[in-house]
Amino acid sequence: MRFVKIMGVPFLNIDQSSFIQLLDERIQQKKRTFVVTANPEIVMKAKQDSNFMKTIQQATYITADGIGIVKAAKLLNDPLPGRVTGFDTMMGLLEIANEKQYTIFLLGAKQETLDNVVEKLKKTYPGIQIVGAHNGYFDWENNDIADRVAETKPDITFVALGVPKQEQWIAENLHRVEYGVMIGIGGSFDVIAG
Ligand code: UDP
Repeated sequence: MRFVKIMGVPFLNIDQSSFIQLLDERIQQKKRTFVVTANPEIVMKAKQDSNFMKTIQQATYITADGIGIVKAAKLLNDPLPGRVTGFDTMMGLLEIANEKQYTIFLLGAKQETLDNVVEKLKKTYPGIQIVGAHNGYFDWENNDIADRVAETKPDITFVALGVPKQEQWIAENLHRVEYGVMIGIGGSFDVIAG
């Protein structure tokens, strides 16, 4: 596995479809996987905020979610094959989950948006088992959401709390799950809800 370092952030050198395949392999191997899809704003934030840098450095993989990262890699003479975005990764994982009957947990967005996403996913991907869904407005100190994720053992947990909350939540709670992919996907639930 090769990485391209941009402003201290190690980006995985991989294309979008190979990345989805790699995550599927890790699901089958029952490994724990923390994914950050990072755009230039995330890299700048990490540069300015050492705690956030430490958070994202706990990720199993950081991918280039933005043409700015791909262009920066080219300028550094260490090119990346292209963007690997949170949204496209989610879409690819949903296709695979539907085929292989994986379980998923959805965390984030407003309740109305989340309800809409659950309804759409059930219709479009009948092979997927949604083992849990919770909106993104909860009390961090006092929440049992991580317990629920740990209990339901999802193959994939989509975390849509925006940057940096989603990365912080995953970094804090990753150790509580035995296996599965946890990925921050920003505003993707809003996009799916339409
Ligand atoms: N969000 C959330 N809880 C929060 C803050 C944001 O669930 O405490 C959700 C918000 O409803 C939206 C998503 O996170 O669905 C992305 O939010 P935003 O556009 O602010 O983040 P970005 O995509 O810019 O990282």
